[in-house]
Amino acid sequence: MNKPEVPIEVDPQTATWAVDGVPMILVPRHFWVAVHRETEAAFGVEANADILFKAGYWAALEWCKKEAGTHGLSGTAVFEHYMKRMTQRGWGRLSLLEIDAEAGRARVRLDHSAFVAEYGRDGGRSVCYMFTGPLCGGMKFACADSDRPRTLQAREVQCAANGADYCLFEVEPAE
Ligand SMILES: [Zn+2]
Repeated sequence: MNKPEVPIEVDPQTATWAVDGVPMILVPRHFWVAVHRETEAAFGVEANADILFKAGYWAALEWCKKEAGTHGLSGTAVFEHYMKRMTQRGWGRLSLLEIDAEAGRARVRLDHSAFVAEYGRDGGRSVCYMFTGPLCGGMKFACADSDRPRTLQAREVQCAANGADYCLFEVEPAE
């Protein structure tokens, strides 16, 4: 097993974990997906997707702002860095296939999704919708940085839990 490439710092006093100065918590994947299953059961898939979109969108924007400052990155380089860090944090292997900040469009491939791993490849539906908020938030940052602020939307166009070889997301302008 390779050591994680992501630089984890643990404060010896408080036991707080951080990566690039951003506080983190390490949780079992099955715990996070159990939360997901329970919120789906309580509120329905649509409402759960809406809640996760808003939270993920906001968190991605905040993360990108901080990381841009920490690493001196801007525009699409921040988005690329974001895909790398999400991959390193165990969400799955995210590959940026296309990005056009001017047009507000991106295509992102996801292999070995943490959600597919927990739900199984025979889930019968797309299960990785949590990524849509983070992808829109990350693209929002990249677009704003290139002076083209936009409202964005994203969808998982195919999912490995629903017959596809890998998961695929498309981000595009909502207007
Ligand atoms: Zn998927």
